[in-house]
Amino acid sequence: MRRLALTIILLLLLPLAGRAQISIRIFARTRPASIIFTASQGGYILRDGAAADVRLNQGEVVIISRHENRVIYRTLSGTYGAADSLTFSPVSAGALFRVRAPGNPEPEKTLNGMLRVKPFPGSLLVLNFATVEECLPGVVRAEAGKLGPSHYFRAQAVVARTYIYRNIDRHALDGYNLCDDIHCQVYPGVVTDTVIVNACRLTAGKVLADRDSILIEAAFHGNCGGETASSADVWLAGYPYLISVKDPWCSYSASSTWRKGIPRAEWNSFLLLKGITPGTEGSLYSAGTPGGGRIAYRTVQGKTISSEDIRLRFGLRSAWFAITAEADSIILNGRGYGHGVGLCQDGAKHMAEKKNTFETIIGFYYPGTIITNIKNARRPPRP
Ligand SMILES: [Zn+2]
Ligand SMILES: [Zn+2]
Repeated sequence: MRRLALTIILLLLLPLAGRAQISIRIFARTRPASIIFTASQGGYILRDGAAADVRLNQGEVVIISRHENRVIYRTLSGTYGAADSLTFSPVSAGALFRVRAPGNPEPEKTLNGMLRVKPFPGSLLVLNFATVEECLPGVVRAEAGKLGPSHYFRAQAVVARTYIYRNIDRHALDGYNLCDDIHCQVYPGVVTDTVIVNACRLTAGKVLADRDSILIEAAFHGNCGGETASSADVWLAGYPYLISVKDPWCSYSASSTWRKGIPRAEWNSFLLLKGITPGTEGSLYSAGTPGGGRIAYRTVQGKTISSEDIRLRFGLRSAWFAITAEADSIILNGRGYGHGVGLCQDGAKHMAEKKNTFETIIGFYYPGTIITNIKNARRPPRP
């Protein structure tokens, strides 16, 4: 049964190219049990699987909630009903709607395309169907910020598009393509920032592939601190294009260095957890900010600690740091922000400010990859 469902979903998605719509779960993090739909631009048709379609004029508001295994709805103009699922389809091109969840911390979203609402255990399953190109500006703004030159956003658009296509079956078993949370890529909805919208349009369909035309693992992060990290050191999965590169472009940013103190007691319990007796770990310590390359592992008396372990345990901004021991605390002096693998956003932005094109930026951070149209790229074979 599962396999059949998966096959059906995969068939619906093929081919990757073109105008096929993807489904994104909206409010995936908070999973509300009721939402409010507003037809903010243009009209919509509401289908509830019953006899008649409900025509929603611009401005109409529909309150939707879950009742046992059904979805119930009520419009402000007085229509109501219950259904196994509700579908809101735009009457004309350019239509927009808003959704919000009362009492939910996630902000209201403006969306285009189609909306489907179904019951889900404990909540509603809210799915937005739109094309990749329609969703991309929102994803790029959420991941790359609002401000920057066009070629910075063009590089980010190619990276985000590659990520979407490579991960398009991430939620296949849940019955949709991607979620709108950081688990996949944050999708805040439709945005209108001209530079971002144009950067997406100018790179429409362009993705990053390796020499075998396979969509790459398009990792990126805030600031590498002067040298990107190899994916093999961070995730144990090596890719020929996710190798360490020296980055002279990001040192201008305040994110390129950081400092953090850890109380000695906390540090000692971490050492014990790693099988190291406090008092014997002297070789871990050195002074100052890391000068040479990244240090992925440190070994003390036959026990190995990875920098990534320390980063996760203490919530550090990066896994590149020097460790100094003081009387009752440990001081970490670090470089960069994020995991350090792939494109460095601060560096990419500065490269674009200095008139480098998105092709140059991408070639710098993902050496040996090619920019190609999605029509010519494939997803990696299943393991
Ligand atoms: Zn997800
Ligand atoms: Zn950098």
